[in-house]
Amino acid sequence: MAILLFAEHDNAALSDQTARALTAASRIGSEVDILIAGKAAGAVAEAAARLTGVRKVLLAEGDAFEHRLAEPVANLIVALSDGYDAIVAAATTSGKNVLPRVAALIDVMQVSEIVEVVAPDTFKRPIYAGNALQTVQSTDAKKVVTVRTAGFVAAASVNAAAAIVAVNADAAGSGLSFFVENRLSTSDRPELSSAKIVVSGGRALGSQEKFHEIILPVADKLGAAVGASRAAVDAGYAPNDWQVGQTGKVVAPALYIACGISGAIQHLAGMKDSKVIVAINKDEEAPIFQVADYGLVGDIFELLPELERQL
Ligand SMILES: Cc1cc2nc3c(=O)[nH]c(=O)nc-3n(C[C@H](O)[C@H](O)[C@H](O)COP(=O)(O)OP(=O)(O)OC[C@H]3O[C@@H](n4cnc5c(N)ncnc54)[C@H](O)[C@@H]3O)c2cc1C
Repeated sequence: MAILLFAEHDNAALSDQTARALTAASRIGSEVDILIAGKAAGAVAEAAARLTGVRKVLLAEGDAFEHRLAEPVANLIVALSDGYDAIVAAATTSGKNVLPRVAALIDVMQVSEIVEVVAPDTFKRPIYAGNALQTVQSTDAKKVVTVRTAGFVAAASVNAAAAIVAVNADAAGSGLSFFVENRLSTSDRPELSSAKIVVSGGRALGSQEKFHEIILPVADKLGAAVGASRAAVDAGYAPNDWQVGQTGKVVAPALYIACGISGAIQHLAGMKDSKVIVAINKDEEAPIFQVADYGLVGDIFELLPELERQL
């Protein structure tokens, strides 16, 4: 089976999410081509070409692809789709923006946010905020699939590079949407979705000042990304893009430290696949302890400064 994998990048660097989605794509079929749609994205194509298991890289460049707006990119993918049995992308903001449009244009069902490839036409995906796994089989001739990448290891980068083929694409803008601006939060900390360690804080922190005073020093000592429960975000203790959970980010780091977080199912939906979970909570009955590998019952305002000193 031939697969077209739509890559996630910023025209300068290839996202780790693509290497993870490649692992999933390779389980659907052995002939995987990566599509880089962008502008001046040659370095991205070179990085993609070095990933293990890539047959070739298709590089489509043009003004309309610079910000990967859904309309021109979906048209590009549809134009290329004849030679492919499946179109795959990571379930990122960009993948979730483009692939439903592709599925609609070629008139097939999308299979969203798979966590396992059972067979080339059969996939597992979470439902009910991750409380159940559904196995779905697609009988469509062409599969359109987004991948929840946390469950897949990244394909390795090797020295030998696959061929990069330039695609002459119609890069005219559709006029249906325009790029206005990107407002990016800048941080020296690792990105939450791909960090190896995440330290998260909950409602127990009580204020933005305390969140910063108690959580950030421990995160910085560990080189960790910072996460938060929705209660902490809604109360303004932490910014929106730190939220972990059903309506936030889904993370699966090697180590997740939940501080003053009760462990509501909507929070667990975003972190329960972490390799090692540490919970610090003063209530020994808190549900978070049911998923924790290590639990510390006590007051975060005493334990976290102590942990920082020990680190
Ligand atoms: C549709 C929907 C989507 C949702 N999506 C999300 C989501 O994406 N992410 C998410 O997180 N939530 C989500 N929620 C909200 C979720 O149900 C919980 O309300 C939320 O996760 C609770 O956050 P919390 O654990 O910080 O707060 P609480 O549940 O209030 O827990 C605070 C915890 O801190 C402990 N504590 C208090 N003081 C201390 C102290 N000094 N030291 C140690 N421990 C202390 C308490 O024992 C308690 O366990 C969603 C809810 C709905 C309905």
